[in-house]
Amino acid sequence: MTKQYETARQLLPVVVSAAASHQFLTYQTAAESVGRPRNHARAIAQVCNLLDAAAALAEVPLLALVTVLDTNNKINPNAWTADFIEPGIREGIIKRSLGHTFTNADFEAIALALEQLKDKSGESAWKHLGVLMPSAERRRRLAGMESVAYDDAIDDLGTDDPAYTSYSGIRYARDPQVREAVRRRAAGKCEFCGKLGFKCANGARYLECHHILAANDGADRMTNVIAICPGEHREVHFGERRDELEAEMIAKVKVAEARRLRASI
Ligand SMILES: [Zn+2]
Repeated sequence: MTKQYETARQLLPVVVSAAASHQFLTYQTAAESVGRPRNHARAIAQVCNLLDAAAALAEVPLLALVTVLDTNNKINPNAWTADFIEPGIREGIIKRSLGHTFTNADFEAIALALEQLKDKSGESAWKHLGVLMPSAERRRRLAGMESVAYDDAIDDLGTDDPAYTSYSGIRYARDPQVREAVRRRAAGKCEFCGKLGFKCANGARYLECHHILAANDGADRMTNVIAICPGEHREVHFGERRDELEAEMIAKVKVAEARRLRASI
């Protein structure tokens, strides 16, 4: 059980009663309310992350995000900016959370979900959330967005949806033709472990496209994209062995691509 979890449990009823009476807290006043000095604002911000991770797990709009504000009375600019979160999600989550009337059922759901995070700190809560909430679909639900067909729902850093390609940060507008070609190359089988993807409601086999070396090279090429199982996809992003996995994926995708080129001659 982490110290942050214990503080989160203390802070939750304070945030709940602030939300119920339409009051805002700041990290400073929140710190005081749990008997900490006002200069513990940063630690409290992390505790708020943990509370929001719990809300997200419970698929409840984010309570701490819109109730506990920074020194400028603004929503924490760092929350929901992790690189696995698709463009538009943060804005959607904020909008939905601001417009939500929290109920006792919401508070209970958050408290229950918090139990699942009792060994996580506020910082690791975000990473952990990437593992617990691996699907873009769930994040879209949380942001109150329309869902998309799930065999197209997940890419590393974005989706095929044109609404999501206008983001100018580190994400790339993916070339859907490359992804389609990679899916054809994979023919339903994971290009990493060889297993057949599960069958989707529309009959297609489910695989996710991982963009290898995204940080070094933004190009969409057949040798940069590999179709893999969802678990492996999360692991190559968040796992301890991610560098090792990525190296293996580079080797495997080279073989797969050479085979495809040979077959097409
Ligand atoms: Zn696999």
